[in-house]
Amino acid sequence: MTTLTLVRGSITEQHVDAVVNAANSSLLGGGGVDGAIHRAGGPEILAACRTLRAGHYGRGLATGQAVATTAGRLPAEHVIHTVGPVHSTTEDRSALLASCYRESLRIAADLGARTIAFPAISTGVYGWPMDDGARIAVSTVRAEAAAPVEEVRFVLFDEAAYRAFERALAAD
Ligand code: ADP
Repeated sequence: MTTLTLVRGSITEQHVDAVVNAANSSLLGGGGVDGAIHRAGGPEILAACRTLRAGHYGRGLATGQAVATTAGRLPAEHVIHTVGPVHSTTEDRSALLASCYRESLRIAADLGARTIAFPAISTGVYGWPMDDGARIAVSTVRAEAAAPVEEVRFVLFDEAAYRAFERALAAD
């Protein structure tokens, strides 16, 4: 059984085996979670991302996919970069958001990670409504998390996000 937990704080401060980055397809950094991870983790993470771009990920990482690198100076072992969908009012992209959580969990399991921390993917610059983002996150992780992952921690930056995840956990 995997335990789902909520904490209010920064993804950069989590002492876990893997933290998930809400990256963009370039893998070369951005704002929000991405900027915070690269700032706190140092240049080793960006160097690893550049190596990925020079190899198998020449065209970047597709939306809904995930890939792991070192966590540099973060208090975690690995960063799993995933690219959330930009929210759309005309097209249902929920399957891509669910895919981010599922693929990140699959990579975490391949790495032997027992603890993994997720931010609320796509709910920042990418505009996904927080309640719906929380619902997709919780239902996907509940359905997909399996050994060796023992704890999936959602790290919420503000009170509104924390409350949305609380409601999603209670409802699912
Ligand atoms: P996206 O581009 O996928 O929307 P963002 O990084 O812009 O990603 O935002 C995703 C969510 O993470 C937002 O709810 C934002 O408030 C939150 N967030 C921003 N910085 C951090 C951080 N350091 N730790 C955890 N969550 C964060």
